[in-house]
Amino acid sequence: MAGQRQALKPDADGGAALASQRVREKMAERIRQQGVRDARVLQAMATVPRHLFVDAALASRAYEDSAMPIGHGQTISRPYIVARCAELLLAAIPRHQSATVLEIGTGCGYAAAVLAQLFGTVVSVERLRPLHELARENLRPLRLPNVRLVFGDGSLGVPGQPPFDGIVAAAAGAQLPSAWLAQLRNDGRLVAPLGIEEQRLVVAHKDAAGRISQRTIEAVRFVPLKPGTG
Ligand code: SAH
Repeated sequence: MAGQRQALKPDADGGAALASQRVREKMAERIRQQGVRDARVLQAMATVPRHLFVDAALASRAYEDSAMPIGHGQTISRPYIVARCAELLLAAIPRHQSATVLEIGTGCGYAAAVLAQLFGTVVSVERLRPLHELARENLRPLRLPNVRLVFGDGSLGVPGQPPFDGIVAAAAGAQLPSAWLAQLRNDGRLVAPLGIEEQRLVVAHKDAAGRISQRTIEAVRFVPLKPGTG
């Protein structure tokens, strides 16, 4: 898939100053200082033009480390958290270039574009139709053939898919849906926020025998995982 990833066109908007490689490299350096050390992840963060995923009125702040509204009560995740989740997933998937990962909660599509730099195939599911369509629009100029967007309730995973090598969730529920663990292949890893008021990022590992173990990484704040579609 290496050839396909090169298809990314960071200056698809005509090369506005905001799109400059340097601004993104500064953001990646900040993320490194925040503790994300995987060079492949930092490279992906320095490559994907985040300003193309936020409203034009917010584009001048696109490389700050903050979540921002994307409409419909949802947000684009902080760059740090996108990088941290990608790093946790990558660490468990040695053959990442041929791996298929599932993202729950596409939102505007930014994290899917980052994951597409790192993994063979990214399937990303979103429950709100307008955001599913927004992500499609946002991703189009980047020409990432290895991203597949799905409209549906991601708390059910994406039925009918082969088991995923990794799953990452961008929305938090009180527990990890059993469908996610069922759709994770043995020796696969799930990275997800857990909790309602107080949330923490957890990593669940499914061992070769299918047993699940779980550990907590850090406190986080994500939008809620909601049932159904809208
Ligand atoms: N990945 C995004 C984060 C978007 S916020 C980024 O790159 O910034 C999380 C998204 O999860 C929201 O768009 C929300 O609508 C979606 N979501 C919440 N519950 C969901 C569910 N059950 N299935 C799919 N998406 C869900």
